[in-house]
Amino acid sequence: MRLDLHTHTTASDGVLSPSQLVELAKVVSLDALAITDHDTVAGLSEATSAGQDHSIQIIPGIEVSCAVSGIACHILGYFIDYQSSTLSAYTAKAILAREDRMKEMLVRLAKQNILVEMEDVVKEAGPERSSLGRPHLARALVSRNHATSIGDAFDRLIGDQHSAHVAIRLLEASEAIELIHKAGGIAVWAHPRLEVLERLLPELVASGLRGLEVYRPKSSPEHVRKVRASAAKMNLLVTGGSDWHGPGLGAELGQFYVTDDDISQFLDEGQISG
Ligand code: AMP
Ligand code: FE
Ligand code: FE
Ligand code: ZN
Repeated sequence: MRLDLHTHTTASDGVLSPSQLVELAKVVSLDALAITDHDTVAGLSEATSAGQDHSIQIIPGIEVSCAVSGIACHILGYFIDYQSSTLSAYTAKAILAREDRMKEMLVRLAKQNILVEMEDVVKEAGPERSSLGRPHLARALVSRNHATSIGDAFDRLIGDQHSAHVAIRLLEASEAIELIHKAGGIAVWAHPRLEVLERLLPELVASGLRGLEVYRPKSSPEHVRKVRASAAKMNLLVTGGSDWHGPGLGAELGQFYVTDDDISQFLDEGQISG
């Protein structure tokens, strides 16, 4: 069984709609897909029915933007009840906060004489988007000839280190984990950085974190070994996913996958049969 446990759709900053993503997953021979859009569950209903149509198992997920000890981190929630009212209360707030944050980023860019309108960003995000993110802004910067590519926009203008970047700090990681639990899900730390892994892990585990995203297309074997060792030490589940946002942005969908053997405990906990 081939699984990809980290993907994005047009509900957030991905390029394909939920049903297009599921159809592509079928074409590239994946058996199961977790859809983990940033701070929204808006794509999950469409994805679930497309999954039924194409015999692909869809694991409902979300990637929650949060911070722990002042450091930004992303917590993945898996097997969530995406109709949970607690979750919708959060996503409604997060979607508005992301719009305000985008406006603030546009103000900061304008101070550098880089003019982009909110309308441009919304247009790039498309009619299906629920949460706005920096990739939408990056696309608008490219359209307006302020950047030569998405990568260039992040490198020179809107990456974490730049003054135009406004961080999203809606929740503490402990609150994000609690939110995922209230929606019946399992909380997993997405793409943990080695520099902060050991330092932040005890606090996250104390808050109820259940797993670490170990397998990623860009991670070196050494990175994988270290994160897997931390997971073993802290008695955590391991997961893996491509963090796929669209074609031509790195490894293509289906090139990277984990098997049910790699993540058997995670699947057991989520009660998915291999
Ligand atoms: P946001 O949550 O709005 O701050 O946007 C974060 C998203 O931007 C990530 O999930 C990636 O999709 C994308 N991203 C972050 N850094 C880069 C980069 N250097 N190049 C391209 N995309 C990036
Ligand atoms: Fe993203
Ligand atoms: Fe992420
Ligand atoms: Zn992601």
